[in-house]
Amino acid sequence: MTTSARRVALVTGSTSGIGLGVVRKLAASGQDIVLNGFGDAKEIEAIRVSLEAEHEVRARYHAADMTKPQEIAEMVAFAHKELGSLDVVVNNAGIQHTASIEEFPVAKWDAILAINLSSAFHVVQHALPGMRARNWGRVINIASAHGLVASPFKAAYVAAKHGLVGFTKVLALETATTGITANAICPGWVLTPLVQKQIDAAATAEGISVDEAQKKLVAAKQPSQRFATPEQIGALAVFLCSDAASSMTGASLPVDGGWTAQ
Ligand code: NAD
Repeated sequence: MTTSARRVALVTGSTSGIGLGVVRKLAASGQDIVLNGFGDAKEIEAIRVSLEAEHEVRARYHAADMTKPQEIAEMVAFAHKELGSLDVVVNNAGIQHTASIEEFPVAKWDAILAINLSSAFHVVQHALPGMRARNWGRVINIASAHGLVASPFKAAYVAAKHGLVGFTKVLALETATTGITANAICPGWVLTPLVQKQIDAAATAEGISVDEAQKKLVAAKQPSQRFATPEQIGALAVFLCSDAASSMTGASLPVDGGWTAQ
């Protein structure tokens, strides 16, 4: 899959899980990378160095906290200053918290809305002028099956992901006559630290093994009974960056083993 020129891609929350799978695939397709996310400084530096060594691209890291609009603005400026452009934005950073609405901590609601939804608005607001000036851009929002359907006890997450799907559609309409596209990828279950926490909690709550809890979690929602992988999400992101995908915009693309077909 080729893009017509070398591009610079920013992937928020790319120090772990799906974001890391996406940066590896984008780098393998020849894109320069801005990494972002929390974690151990040495491990992040090892990821950065491995991207440069394995794929002969330039990779940089910016530690912006996705709850802080000013830091997001600085990160977009950093991409332009360090790598000369910002052509591809993957809004991926996200957190989860499960509780009934009555018991949902207000601070968790605010954090999930800030990280899983508002950060995408802030990144795009700063990245869009450059994309418009170059008349080329790709915005890929990592939403969720929970951007299309709901589950109980995930009020903030489901609200944020439905919001992200809506934001993607508005962005697609506002850029429809340009060389910019905006799409949402909607993964079902992907085995990452975010999901492992939910599996561990279920195992403890139900007094079953972690292995059993894992099988139960997937089987309850995902007809394939298999996890999707970060690499599969990354491969779809690479496709969305290609010229072949230039007419796809405003779409929400499930990668969910049939979850939302039910
Ligand atoms: P993860 O916990 O492995 O990774 C989350 C990433 O976001 C990490 O790099 C973390 O450092 C970063 N992050 C968290 N808070 C941040 C903040 N305030 N500022 C900057 N970075 C921050 O989780 P994941 O499963 O890879 O999730 C990635 C995205 O995919 C999320 O938006 C999630 O909602 C979405 N998603 C995941 C699944 C799944 O099954 N794993 C399914 C659907 C959607």
